[in-house]
Amino acid sequence: MERNKKDFQSELAKYLSEKDFVYGPEPEIYGPLAGFYSYGLNGKAMKNKIENQIRKIFKSNNFFEVELPLISPQIVWEASGHLKGFNDPIINCSKCKAVFRADKLLNETLEIDADHLKNEEIIDLIKKHEIHCPSCNGRFNLEIKRQCLMMKTTIGIDTPVYLRPETATTTYLPFKHYINFFRGKLPFTVFQIGKAFRNEISPRQNLIRMREFTQAESQMFLTKEMKENFSLYEKIKKVVLPLWTEKMQKENKNFEKISLEKALSEKILKNKAYAWNLWLSYEIIKAIGIKEDKIRFRQHFSDERAFYSDDTWDLEVELNSFGWIEMVGISDRTNYDLSQHAKFSKQDLSIKDEKGKDVILDVIEIAFGVDRPFYALLDLAFFRREADEQRTVLSLPSKIAPIEVGVLPLVKKDGMPEKAQEVLEKLKEFVYLYDDSGSIGKRYSRLDAIGTPFCITIDGDSLKNDDVTIRERDSGKQKRVKIKDLKNLLKELLNEEKRFEEI
Ligand SMILES: [Zn+2]
Repeated sequence: MERNKKDFQSELAKYLSEKDFVYGPEPEIYGPLAGFYSYGLNGKAMKNKIENQIRKIFKSNNFFEVELPLISPQIVWEASGHLKGFNDPIINCSKCKAVFRADKLLNETLEIDADHLKNEEIIDLIKKHEIHCPSCNGRFNLEIKRQCLMMKTTIGIDTPVYLRPETATTTYLPFKHYINFFRGKLPFTVFQIGKAFRNEISPRQNLIRMREFTQAESQMFLTKEMKENFSLYEKIKKVVLPLWTEKMQKENKNFEKISLEKALSEKILKNKAYAWNLWLSYEIIKAIGIKEDKIRFRQHFSDERAFYSDDTWDLEVELNSFGWIEMVGISDRTNYDLSQHAKFSKQDLSIKDEKGKDVILDVIEIAFGVDRPFYALLDLAFFRREADEQRTVLSLPSKIAPIEVGVLPLVKKDGMPEKAQEVLEKLKEFVYLYDDSGSIGKRYSRLDAIGTPFCITIDGDSLKNDDVTIRERDSGKQKRVKIKDLKNLLKELLNEEKRFEEI
């Protein structure tokens, strides 16, 4: 099974490069830096669509967007705790000097979750199991060093500054402006979509682990009382989510579909506001086009959570290439962040609550990555290839596909190219690809291979009847449609408001 996953990973990576979704690691022509990738001509269009889906749902829930600098001074990261606590344990081979992430090494050789082990615990395990260097089979130096995951640079002549390792911390900093903007009305939510940087030791998993990546994180600011007294919850409390609690994990049980109402009454979830944020992250991942049967929520173990976090769950998606992978983290960060920034900046970041008492607000965070859902969609779409033929059909959700419609005159003569131009005029608002070279079958295949959901073909009858055929990617079925109806029809199909069978 493991072998199959590895094959699938490399096959998919090759495909994504050939079809202009993902290039890299970059720069390819000079010799690459691990963990840096480019979104190609199809990939960038698709990534924009994913970001816009996330943006659309955040906005429709009255979340407001901000954009903050990628670089901040050291004190910000002292306050956030990243400078001290955000690091990976590394270990050296005494013979070949290769450097490894010690927790990953234990994870791969012993199949245990070693993320949160202390230095001494890691050393003990390496001794006990006599683990040797995977490269040369030499012995390890029995000393763990902590490698800071933040990237450092300088501004001016020699002022050290850091590239942000997450968008979240920067989002807190203009807190006083938010209070002014929202006129003190609580709760309020702010989100940011942008790049973040992590100095991973040896990233090898394509878009799953990058050194430069895109996040979409939201922060809901509220008082502790509001978490229990959260009216939006009433509308969604019957919704059933696939929850894999800490207890189920420890007892080796599978996740279960549980209603939010039940999860709260059984204290699986701690409060209504948190439950609502969990629900929202589920709505977003489905809106992007991930199917329900590939999604679960995994609760963090109490010793796995950040020390300030009251509750954390990961939304995970089951991939063909890597198994279950975290896409989103939902955390109750309590009032840790604003308290820390108040302390380090010496500014008053408290507000008056309903009783006139000074309080520091709590934050519930939805931390989306953009790159991982992007990869997940392609991983899941690529699986449906037709094994016996060389043809690949990329079954991407229509609203995420980079090219929305192919426009194809059957032949390059007899007035068909001219008629095709007339059709194109009506389709300006869509992302189209005009293709008149090669047999019609070859052209369909090329568009299927990059996930284009619909193709329009102009033939001899089009000139007489002012109609065209529209072909659906997954079924290969075709229907005859009047040119004047095309625009509205395509809009409905692409937004998934209408199914092809209903035409
Ligand atoms: Zn070695």
